[in-house]
Amino acid sequence: MHDTERFFAQTYAEARAGFIRAAEARGLQVHSHLHPLRGQDGEPLAMDVARDGPADAAAVLIISSACHGVEGFCGSGVQRALLAEAAFGHAARAAGVAVLYIHALNPWGFSWWRRTTHENVDLNRNFHDFHRPLPENPAYDELASAIVPPQWPSPQADERLAAYAAAHGDRALQAAITAGQYKHPQGIFYGGRAPTWSQQTLRHVLQDHGRQCQRLGWIDLHTGLGPSGHGERIFAGPNDDRVLARARAWWGDAVTSIYDGSSTSALLSGLMWLSAGQECPHAEVTGMALEFGTVPMAEVVAALRADQWAENHPECDAAQRARVRRQVREAFYTDTPTWKAQIVQQGLEAAHQGVRGLAV
Ligand SMILES: [Zn+2]
Repeated sequence: MHDTERFFAQTYAEARAGFIRAAEARGLQVHSHLHPLRGQDGEPLAMDVARDGPADAAAVLIISSACHGVEGFCGSGVQRALLAEAAFGHAARAAGVAVLYIHALNPWGFSWWRRTTHENVDLNRNFHDFHRPLPENPAYDELASAIVPPQWPSPQADERLAAYAAAHGDRALQAAITAGQYKHPQGIFYGGRAPTWSQQTLRHVLQDHGRQCQRLGWIDLHTGLGPSGHGERIFAGPNDDRVLARARAWWGDAVTSIYDGSSTSALLSGLMWLSAGQECPHAEVTGMALEFGTVPMAEVVAALRADQWAENHPECDAAQRARVRRQVREAFYTDTPTWKAQIVQQGLEAAHQGVRGLAV
């Protein structure tokens, strides 16, 4: 693969226009679910959906981007590369697999370079039945004022987190911060108290496109975890060994799981991917998150803490805010030709494997 740069954008608006162009060049219609707010350049925001394949296809492969807004720079690039690769379209058609591209699950975060939705919610912690008790995260509660401290930077807060890691281990600190929490709306990895716009809209998309098929595959594109340029294939589904075995048959034994500790990710709650089984109960669902590494985890977490601090402090000066926002973007988007080429190559491979898995 050469010249992968052309699939990647510098702004959400550019990414969206490129996606729509790529879909239309393939003769696909794009259905846009408009978001109620505008982006950072005043542009409209939307979850854009393009389906390559008949409405009654027995198998559907979802390729989705920007669950975590700013991570969409990567996911959108992979989607555009797939739309441009004629061989992928042919392979899917020959296998009877419809490909459903969902561009910008969280367009607001994509445009504003935030990981969260406009509700300050981590979309991949938001998929709960909010009439039932929400998971507890006592470790986050204990550390909340150090995770997002009143001042930034805060060496004292950093020391508290380091002391927690020294006492309980790095994995325990990672889980405390990232597993999801439901009590600190001005904190990070907050799962919300109600379904977000993105959750509600995605459920409609799944109902429209997933209810008729018998087999549903899902590759959800992420960044910010693991070694730079490496795509960790993280099982995305229920804690069910049969489903995990199917994901490994499709995507290889390297598929990791948050349920058995093999993933770089902590055990999470409120996962988006479970919505496929809920909305498409007749389909056999097989999914994975393709999680591309960028910078070391400590830098990623520091960027998110700083970003949330700035969000909580509208009075913070413009130069500091701009620095923090740039830090977030760089934590989730490595804007180099080498990294982009690695992303595209692994994204294409995973998508081809998904088609083969669904074809069986
Ligand atoms: Zn993510």
